[in-house]
Amino acid sequence: MADSGRVAHAMLLYENEGCGALALALAYVQYLNCANPSGGDSCGECPSCRQMSKLIHPDVHFVFPVNKGPKSTDDKPTSESYLKYWRELAVADPYFTEADLQHAIGIESKNGLIAVAEAKSIIGKLSLASVADGYKAVIFYLPEKMNQETANRLLKMVEEPPQKTLFLFITHAPEKVLQTIFSRCQSVRVMPLTKDEAARVEALKPARDMEEQNVFMDLFSDLLRSIVSRDLTGTLECGEAMAALESREKQKAFCTFAGNCVRKIFMLQQKLPQISDVDESESDFYEEMASKCPKGFCVKTMTNIEKVVSMIDRNVNSKILFCDLVNRMFLNI
Ligand SMILES: [Zn+2]
Repeated sequence: MADSGRVAHAMLLYENEGCGALALALAYVQYLNCANPSGGDSCGECPSCRQMSKLIHPDVHFVFPVNKGPKSTDDKPTSESYLKYWRELAVADPYFTEADLQHAIGIESKNGLIAVAEAKSIIGKLSLASVADGYKAVIFYLPEKMNQETANRLLKMVEEPPQKTLFLFITHAPEKVLQTIFSRCQSVRVMPLTKDEAARVEALKPARDMEEQNVFMDLFSDLLRSIVSRDLTGTLECGEAMAALESREKQKAFCTFAGNCVRKIFMLQQKLPQISDVDESESDFYEEMASKCPKGFCVKTMTNIEKVVSMIDRNVNSKILFCDLVNRMFLNI
């Protein structure tokens, strides 16, 4: 698109969380504004590229869901209030998750929102002439967190932006993006990472993530072992431990993790170990579970986990949600 000069002024990149849509959006804007692009890539050395690498390019703006928290004294915080933390996070690891962002800006226990103050701030910034004579861009992370009022304010700007101005929306839930915004964007599916790419991304992640993965794996294996051994008390205790994960984002991250584990079991049951993504170190556990879980268990459980995720977003009491989830899993064995 960049090379053909047919740059869409509003794009919606749809990805599974952590699959690189932000990295792609940043590379795209960097390429468009690079002084010496060659071979389909930006140079990495011109002033614009250097500013992009630190996320301090004066014509590139970021919008992401925020809320009040200890890291900002603003009464009505906007992305600007947390920009420093956003930059630190995204420079270190552009493949970060929503939970990582919540953690970085210190609002773990709250839902992030894109409120109307954000729209006003963006409209103000875009009405100024570009500093560097290149493209101005707004990278909008998780437009599904935007309310109607914010969207209404932005609509006209998204539809008819000033010259050389781009809106890049990055979503994990395109069905939740307000239709008025969605319909004005050219949407692009960012494909999930291949196994090799995922391993490379994993290597970039700070150690905190590895600890989290270990906690999640222990919890998931305790749960399944309790279920297959018909230990109802143990099963319910696992449900309580899931509900006690410290934030909604962490609970959702656990659900994603558990969904992946169940998928591995399903693939082994389908006799497709080559696409199961099971490592050698964990194959004993998954083989055992694949033999002990009945047919139909995995599909039902994946559906139930998805329901839990959408209920967490609606602020349903997590103790009830996870108790219900583990009960259903117990009954489906
Ligand atoms: Zn450059």
